Amino acid sequence: MDLNDIKLIPLRCPECGEAIDSKEEDRIHFCSVCGSGFQVVGDKFKKVDVLYAKPQITLENKIFYYLPMWEILTTVSLKMKYSVNLEDLPEEIIRNRKFSELLTSLFNEKEAKKKMIFFVPAFGVTNRYHLMDQPGFQFTVNPPKLEKDSPKNMVGAEYSIEDAEEIAKVMFLSIRAHTRADILDANIDFDFHRYRIVGIPFFEEKGMLVDGIKGYRIFKDALRDWDRLKKHVL
Ligand SMILES: [Zn+2]
Repeated sequence: MDLNDIKLIPLRCPECGEAIDSKEEDRIHFCSVCGSGFQVVGDKFKKVDVLYAKPQITLENKIFYYLPMWEILTTVSLKMKYSVNLEDLPEEIIRNRKFSELLTSLFNEKEAKKKMIFFVPAFGVTNRYHLMDQPGFQFTVNPPKLEKDSPKNMVGAEYSIEDAEEIAKVMFLSIRAHTRADILDANIDFDFHRYRIVGIPFFEEKGMLVDGIKGYRIFKDALRDWDRLKKHVL
């Protein structure tokens, strides 16, 4: 198995002219030289904001691989009022006080509007992603402090912003599904109003990939074909 197994499409960065190797599945492409991100729409390039996050976990001799995640600033609103207590929330949410308060006040106020930030993987994932820490979910309930780093070589994003919005809604629904049955039918509106890609550094450890911001883990096979991707990222 080698790089030739990935079908590559030759692209040039619209900002700096550097060659970019992209996989056929990629929806968003990243330039490792100037750091730009863009989507090809018809014969035009649509720019996407990108932040390359500096690792907060620094370990000697670790190689970091950058994987793209969507960060979406969202206003969640709810017309009806439901009385939801902290005890109604799942344990993994209660552990995070700020997010639990956001959820309970969203349900307990009439015509509530709350701002939150969704983190959704833009890299291709398999069903195995759900079996471990799910950094996207963890970052959503407890948004990390992100520090800007210089541009990095990053694998292209397989999920577009439209995909990411759907994934964010499903993620919210999965939080709600743990709570009481009577609020499962609640009509929730999502206003997604600011998007950017965050390049999250990951390192390999014992057959897993660990994020370099908070240390959440995913199986390597939570990514579609990590071994081939790895060669592509390096
Ligand atoms: Zn460039």
